[in-house]
Amino acid sequence: MMAGGAGVPHPDGSEVETPVLEIVGATRVHGQGPTEVVALDGVDLEVRAGELVAVMGPSGSGKSTLLNLAGGLDTPTAGSIRVVGEELSGLGATARARLRRRLVGYVFQDFNLVPSLTAAENVALPLELDGVPARRAGEQAIAALDSVGVGDLADRFPEEMSGGQQQRTAVARALVGPRRLLLADEPTGALDTATGEEMMLVLRGRIDAGSAGVLVTHDARYAAWADRTVFLRDGRLTGSTGTRMGVESLFTTPGAPPPPRSEPEP
Ligand code: ADP
Ligand code: MG
Repeated sequence: MMAGGAGVPHPDGSEVETPVLEIVGATRVHGQGPTEVVALDGVDLEVRAGELVAVMGPSGSGKSTLLNLAGGLDTPTAGSIRVVGEELSGLGATARARLRRRLVGYVFQDFNLVPSLTAAENVALPLELDGVPARRAGEQAIAALDSVGVGDLADRFPEEMSGGQQQRTAVARALVGPRRLLLADEPTGALDTATGEEMMLVLRGRIDAGSAGVLVTHDARYAAWADRTVFLRDGRLTGSTGTRMGVESLFTTPGAPPPPRSEPEP
């Protein structure tokens, strides 16, 4: 049974919404003995509906590992990963894949588009795998491509698109359908600043509409779109900014660029 958005009772009688993503003590060790690498070391992270958390940290600090665990693409050596209250390690591979396809939108650092499918077919694929009729999936795919500015490239194959166009297509694929959790690994890496900001506006819109998101980025300008930023170093969380900084202007002026933020911690 999926817990869905069901609330858990709070001592004062109110309902507390289950976090969309709840990571407790997540550790991921690769290899063993002298070749052992601790990619992630006891990380706790909670992300609620309507919340976008940015993850920053040097190369090799465990950012992609954290996203892979959150998306059920990798399994922790120790610790717990819950998505909408569902413990991922308690699910078999098939159930986990199904949950991922339905609830999780993932933007891979290297796009991961299927080379033999057009942009529209790539975006429609997760919907069709989930049983949405082809025609409706196709329409939703075009709408998603439109929303990230590449609707006119729907019939192109990945190799016929620039890196930036492929990246936008990958964002469209992550956003299509009713995704509750959006995980994005440097989704602006191949984009110029204006297009990157455009992508963040689309992502932020989906978060404000009730999804939860985790954004890995090297760039504080993109982290500024998040409600808070956490910092990873050597697989450990080393700090975070306060919550909901600058959130007022984000919500009172629809479409406005994010306000300036204080510098992230080192
Ligand atoms: P980031 O995304 O922050 O650059 P990663 O999560 O990719 O970092 O990697 C964290 C650490 O784990 C790095 O030291 C990396 O070399 C190591 N690592 C990641 N995947 C593997 C793997 N499959 N086998 C061995 N080591 C790995
Ligand atoms: Mg990475």
